[in-house]
Amino acid sequence: GVPSQLRKCFIKLVIIGDSSVGKTSLIQMFEHSKFSQNFKPTIGADFSNKEITLDDNRVVTLQIWDTAGQERFQSLGSAFYRGADCCVLVYDISNQASFDHLMNQRQVFLIKSDPREPQTLPFLVLGNKCDVPEEQKKVSSIDAKRFCQQNGNILFYETSAKDNVNVEKAFKELIIKVLKRQ
Ligand code: GDP
Ligand code: MG
Repeated sequence: GVPSQLRKCFIKLVIIGDSSVGKTSLIQMFEHSKFSQNFKPTIGADFSNKEITLDDNRVVTLQIWDTAGQERFQSLGSAFYRGADCCVLVYDISNQASFDHLMNQRQVFLIKSDPREPQTLPFLVLGNKCDVPEEQKKVSSIDAKRFCQQNGNILFYETSAKDNVNVEKAFKELIIKVLKRQ
């Protein structure tokens, strides 16, 4: 057969979290290395494809599904979740409620995506906006790490889409976890 490192890999990734935690900004930073204060929600385009070359030269086509603001109305269609290989859960470090909602958002994801092996489906939790001043931080990384441990060894990073902190590292680690499972 084809050596595994030459096989073309395809991964569907969905990114969820409250409105304005920085999901679209994280994707823009990861895909295009740029940050803008006001990304317009893309109407019509449900997903984008990005080719990624890993450190060992494996090439992966990553299909990223971001919301176009529907998270406000909790009205994401089933096409959004269907066939997802992994899930990124984003909260805003300066917004406690956005962290409190992760548990429910994870449950909704698991119900709607209905994966064959939900126990091993890779999740990545991102505490975004780690660039904010200390006094604005509301969610401690200890609480976030505990959430990740209690829900099955979830990858965790604090990120800044604004200052490009940990963005590429976190996504690549998630991809490697997905590939190990396939
Ligand atoms: P989404 O609704 O989850 O897609 O969030 P957006 O990506 O549209 O970002 C919402 C707001 O947060 C925008 O004003 C962004 O400029 C801002 N934002 C996003 N990421 C960061 C970050 O890492 N740090 C800071 N300080 N602001 C951010
Ligand atoms: Mg958005």
